[in-house]
Amino acid sequence: MEIAELYKCFMECGKVTTDSRNCPEGSMFIALKGETFNGNAFAAQALKQGCRYAVIDESEYAGEGTILVDNCLQALQQLANYHRRQLKTPVIGITGTNGKTTTKELISTVLSRKFNTLYTEGNFNNHIGVPLTLLRLTKEHEMAVVEMGANHPGEIKTLVHIAEPDYGIITNVGKAHLQGFGSFEGVIRTKGELYDFLRAKGGATIFIQNENPYLNGIAEGLTCVRYGQTAGLYVSGELISCSPFLSFRWTAEGVSHEVNTHLIGSYNLDNMLAAAAIGRYFGVSDDDISSALASYLPHNNRSQLKETADNKLIVDAYNANPTSMMAALKNFRQVEAPHKMVILGDMKELGEASREEHQKVVDYLKECGFDRVVLVGPEFAAATHSYQTFQHVDEVLADIWMHKPQGYYILIKGSNSMKLSQLPECL
Ligand code: ATP
Ligand code: MG
Repeated sequence: MEIAELYKCFMECGKVTTDSRNCPEGSMFIALKGETFNGNAFAAQALKQGCRYAVIDESEYAGEGTILVDNCLQALQQLANYHRRQLKTPVIGITGTNGKTTTKELISTVLSRKFNTLYTEGNFNNHIGVPLTLLRLTKEHEMAVVEMGANHPGEIKTLVHIAEPDYGIITNVGKAHLQGFGSFEGVIRTKGELYDFLRAKGGATIFIQNENPYLNGIAEGLTCVRYGQTAGLYVSGELISCSPFLSFRWTAEGVSHEVNTHLIGSYNLDNMLAAAAIGRYFGVSDDDISSALASYLPHNNRSQLKETADNKLIVDAYNANPTSMMAALKNFRQVEAPHKMVILGDMKELGEASREEHQKVVDYLKECGFDRVVLVGPEFAAATHSYQTFQHVDEVLADIWMHKPQGYYILIKGSNSMKLSQLPECL
């Protein structure tokens, strides 16, 4: 079926679902395939549950209400792109190694003060999440903020060709998914695919962290709106304190504003400044920018503060890579508390660099002098004999059960698959 025809069907529905357990009345089901499932097999069920159409790519599942295409994933992506082109809502594309989701949420919180803003839900930032986000666009939306993630070269290129952003921001480039990217240069090149797309459009505008040499190195030919910690930028900022919540000052055109945030981590200063710069660029008032940033509350175990009866916890168990691990440790080092403890889990997907990167963290821990250090996972366990190490989170739980720490300020950070998010309830 031609994409224009499929689009007509989509417009009759107004909504797409790829989950046969969640079929809003009158929506369009698109049958995707995963390693362990074939969405085609759920088409009939989706139609029964209220979907108006079911898009399939295997003819044996055809029946009343089904639409046969060559490839459902491609159809989803093409449909999203077609829809995005029809609506012409300005789209801001956001990628980067760390801080995409946080920055996306901050930007959206700020822009929502003035515009009806659509933004990526949660972490829906891949080849399926990006098209699903775009298909939620309606005529009423005045701005869209679309998060784009990648583990392999070429992925951002695919996503920008679907979303066709008008503006771009790369939060930063750091060491993550080195296994997939091959090298740090591979990371930079891949994130840079966002800039490449905007450059090809003809000098589009990007929002750029002024002090980042890697980003500046690939920004040629683009109009740069700069934010960072150097005085005199479009938006400049400085840290006031971070113990543990970030307070900062931001300045634009000689006028300064102080903001007390609910975010932990000095690294969030850049994320905040990015949102302030974008807000200002699109005409949100300075007061609205400040109050939006001050009111934002984080969720999903991303640098959250939790107080239990016995301890105070910074829970950052959602993901970890060398850049974010070092940023979190540096921040935690500055937090003032009588007894400090860290529980760190392995950083995954680092390929050949894994041993060295875990070693660097262990070396840095020696400088930090925390009262207790607990390391979880085979990579950390292999890197040191100086600290208490465990292979698996279950062993940590057992240890906590026997020797419950009390009166500590505890940083918990590791890759999601290390499952450290189970720890807070026992601490
Ligand atoms: P994902 O790749 O999972 O989508 P993300 O890029 O969306 O991650 P966030 O979810 O916003 O990133 O943040 C994840 C963690 O990264 C934070 O909890 C924090 O530890 C770290 N982080 C956030 N911003 C920065 C930054 N500017 N520099 C370094 N580390 C950061
Ligand atoms: Mg994210």
